[in-house]
Amino acid sequence: MAGELAPIVQIVLTAWLFALGCAVGSFLNVVIYRLPRGLTILEPRRSFCPRCGHAIRWHDNVPLLSFLFLGRRCRDCAGPISWRYPAVEGLTGLLFALIFYRQAVASGTDVGQTVIMILAASLLLVAAAVDVEWFIIPDEISLFGLLGGLLAGLLIPSLHVGAASYHTWEKLTGLAHLDGLIASAVGAVSGGLLLWMVRVVGRLLFRREAMGLGDAKLMAMIGAFFGWKVVLVTFFLSPFLGVLYGVPRLVLKGEHLMPYGPFLSLGAVLALLFRTELCSFLEPLEYLVGLLA
Ligand SMILES: [Zn+2]
Repeated sequence: MAGELAPIVQIVLTAWLFALGCAVGSFLNVVIYRLPRGLTILEPRRSFCPRCGHAIRWHDNVPLLSFLFLGRRCRDCAGPISWRYPAVEGLTGLLFALIFYRQAVASGTDVGQTVIMILAASLLLVAAAVDVEWFIIPDEISLFGLLGGLLAGLLIPSLHVGAASYHTWEKLTGLAHLDGLIASAVGAVSGGLLLWMVRVVGRLLFRREAMGLGDAKLMAMIGAFFGWKVVLVTFFLSPFLGVLYGVPRLVLKGEHLMPYGPFLSLGAVLALLFRTELCSFLEPLEYLVGLLA
């Protein structure tokens, strides 16, 4: 779509997507704070300081910038503001800009697909941030996301056609929307089942919880949005990401408990951004599936 745009327009649009992402990140921070505490997202409308409860003035609520100008302190109680706030804002901005640039500009992905990818990545970010703090992934995110993914497959079948998904069965029924829904469902079932099996095997081998049910639901959501290939790439990528983070932590701090959701989320975003390259190694597998079908 944006492939024919002049470079200056591409740069301006990407920068705009970054700013938009930072603003959305500010809202995601509200969700990340309120969801696990059982608070509603809509009331109170204004954000408040978790320490003193004061409503945050609009000019103190500018993504990234307010954190810097306020010197990382609340204007009312001078309590420290968590690094999570600017981190989530900046990361959301980065996700928006990266997905827009990689998909819309470089790969020529259509607008509908790009929007769905950005929405799904936002859900993954919320799941990861909540998991870091609470060691849970809220069903509101994973199950709502699972339904959203199925709906996206039905409405925008192009999500599942081509290198990123199941094109072995591309013309299963010949009805594009129905095929999209089926691809979405195949992705969801393969993702959920795969991690559920890891959970069962982990229990048998180590006699303890190796994989949470929340992780399985999150992977089902990833599959619903992006299909079985991204599920497989995420499945093989996330343990490496986990080890990169977990081993230094174990050695330096002696901590061995860590949430897995962030690595699934990061793995899925990487799988998504580089799906053409990463999914190509699944071609032999796809060939085998094609022989069976
Ligand atoms: Zn305060």
